[in-house]
Amino acid sequence: MANLGITTIGEAKEIRGMNLIAAHSHIRGLGIDTETLETRPASQGLVGQQKARKAAAVILQMVKEGKIAGRAVLLAGPPSTGKTAIAMAMAQSLGSDVPFTMLAASEIFSLEMSKTEALTQAFRRSIGVRIKEETEVIEGEVVEIQIDRSVTGGNKQGKLTLKTQDMETMYDLGTKMIESLSKEKVMAGDIISIDKSSGKITKLGRSFTKSRDYDAMGPDTKFIQCPEGEIQTRKEVVHTVSLHEIDVINSRTQGFLALFSGDTGEIRSEVRDQINTKVGEWKEEGKAEIVPGVLFIDEVHMLDIECFSYINRALESELAPIVIMASNRGNTTIRGTAYKSPHGLPLDFLDRVLIMPTYPYGPDEIREILSIRAQEEEVTLSPDALALLTKIAQETSLRYGSHLITAASLVASKRSQNKSASEVVQVADVQRSYQLFLDQNRSVKFLQEYEKRFIGEEGKVNFHPSI
Ligand code: ATP
Repeated sequence: MANLGITTIGEAKEIRGMNLIAAHSHIRGLGIDTETLETRPASQGLVGQQKARKAAAVILQMVKEGKIAGRAVLLAGPPSTGKTAIAMAMAQSLGSDVPFTMLAASEIFSLEMSKTEALTQAFRRSIGVRIKEETEVIEGEVVEIQIDRSVTGGNKQGKLTLKTQDMETMYDLGTKMIESLSKEKVMAGDIISIDKSSGKITKLGRSFTKSRDYDAMGPDTKFIQCPEGEIQTRKEVVHTVSLHEIDVINSRTQGFLALFSGDTGEIRSEVRDQINTKVGEWKEEGKAEIVPGVLFIDEVHMLDIECFSYINRALESELAPIVIMASNRGNTTIRGTAYKSPHGLPLDFLDRVLIMPTYPYGPDEIREILSIRAQEEEVTLSPDALALLTKIAQETSLRYGSHLITAASLVASKRSQNKSASEVVQVADVQRSYQLFLDQNRSVKFLQEYEKRFIGEEGKVNFHPSI
């Protein structure tokens, strides 16, 4: 299936990583000793919040061992206490072929598909199917490439001679193969591998015997031994795709191109049933393995009662991922009902959820996080500027403090251009950006003062003569 050019889970993770560069790009993992599962106070970009990190590590361990599926975990804590950061860290620590899907609860309310369809797709994106395939490969050192250029400009023909330490074979080349070889810039002395079914050429490195051949060497040339044994061998290749990817490819109305546009629409339940049966058969025959991944739902209190009952049911299915949710709400109304409950989750659902609390940070932790963020953004803060930012973040929020780093650094670079002073962010730069951008409390105050001048819900400006 990967021959069709599907974005596999590993590649999808790289793409997702690019989108998340802003807020959580400094997070590299949970900062945990994998042997003892002990948390280090600050490691891999994460600071403090040790209890939640340890709990996350335990969950991760269970995911890695494939022991749990169909469980739900809730990260509950005030805003900016690292709930999303911890989820991101878990994603980084999962194997490259274990799916991790991230979803903001409000994203499922769309006109294109029903809520339950959107949730089903998210669930199935989070289950991987590891498919083992045997393919024939030709692997050896290139002895010679000979291309006959026809005078009439017609199809090119040629010959490729490959060798291992034990044998040498000559292959005829067609136009397509010649093009691929020149595209990959293959030359004598390269060790290559050709997938017989797809014709894909991979350069594995250069032969050790050519290591004195300076002309053909780049700074990252990898020298390897000429392979031993047969040129043509069978190799087991493993592709991991998500259940959702298999659904889309097999859904005749969508076709696999929908995977790239993201416009998958609704998928019929019969298609999913057939795929579940097929995957079950592959599993029985030892051709495939199911890899339960992680589905992360942020702002989970935005889901409504129907979604919760859907998730409750879906978690019981055999093909269910681990669902990690996050909420910063206390007692709040469950959407779609008149009832209040903790974190906006129905009580029967809450009962089956493991809760990991996150706590507000102390000044030392805030200083450390801000300092890591500054390093990440390549901003140098003077010690006083860092102290002021810490105080601001403590009184407003960590997120606001972190945003001021970028603003203050712009102010500093502007100042240094004007007066040829240093670009190190000083207290005055932080003060300036603090005045330029309001935090939540000052914004509320501003609204109270000028509310009459804003356009109201009825679309009228209530101009007050006294202002
Ligand atoms: P909300 O409830 O508002 O969604 P949250 O709890 O999900 O908030 P995050 O978005 O994780 O908070 O945190 C805000 C910012 O602070 C992010 O840039 C995040 O990477 C950073 N951050 C939070 N906690 C930590 C931590 N323990 N170590 C390092 N960075 C952190």
